[in-house]
Amino acid sequence: MSDQQAAPTRLNIRRRGLVLILASPSGAGKSTISRQLVQEFPSVKLSVSVTTRQRRPSEIDGKHYHFISKDRFTRLRDGGELLEYAEVHGNNYATPLEPVEAALDRGDDMLFDIDWQGTMQVYEKLRTPERNDVASIFILPPSMAELRSRLERRAEDKPEVIARRLVNARTEIAQWEKFDYVIVNDDLDGAYQEVRSILLAERLKRARRVGLNPLVDDLLGTTL
Ligand code: ADP
Ligand code: 5GP
Repeated sequence: MSDQQAAPTRLNIRRRGLVLILASPSGAGKSTISRQLVQEFPSVKLSVSVTTRQRRPSEIDGKHYHFISKDRFTRLRDGGELLEYAEVHGNNYATPLEPVEAALDRGDDMLFDIDWQGTMQVYEKLRTPERNDVASIFILPPSMAELRSRLERRAEDKPEVIARRLVNARTEIAQWEKFDYVIVNDDLDGAYQEVRSILLAERLKRARRVGLNPLVDDLLGTTL
């Protein structure tokens, strides 16, 4: 009963939605943790990115990514339809803007699995003095050897792709100080518990709890 919508006996206090960013070097475990989070919290919507990279055998178009051509990517970017975009490991990736705005206005949370370059653009757009709709988490692997063996065990990328991702891992890890929270994914259950605690605490931030004003006015206006 941890999801807000699954707790009908609680007061339903309206709040703004939250963009929760999970970033890490490839293979550190962000997709695994994201999957668990949306399973436990159905009201958290996974943002489906567009990408020009080739689909992996296990991936479904429209669910894991929208797989698009370079031409379409350019058209979306030039048409202002992307919240952020970046080139990662030689491919283009981006977050479509429209579903994010709709989710935040409805009070739904969105989970982003994006890299640090995209995270900086999301800060610029959604983290302003008037409103901060973002919380970001960086996931570190326990060691480079374990990162390599996770990428190999996942067995979805060719050896040369894995090699490139391991080289890029250093650049990505070097960005860790740009994130609000940092967790080490050594034990999956422990790391998952940390991520879900962050979600629960971020949901309770005062600035997001726009529905509290009427309750507080009522409390202050009531004399017993
Ligand atoms: P990312 O999305 O960051 O590229 P994945 O979630 O795909 O990484 O994880 C890479 C591989 O490592 C997957 O095969 C996953 O099952 C495995 N994995 C994730 N977390 C752990 C962990 N704590 N211990 C062992 N294996 C893990
Ligand atoms: P993968 O190819 O393993 O699915 O993802 C490679 C990298 O691209 C990961 O670091 C992932 O977080 C990042 N990525 C995926 N989608 C997006 C996106 O929409 N925007 C940005 N900036 N990065 C993304």
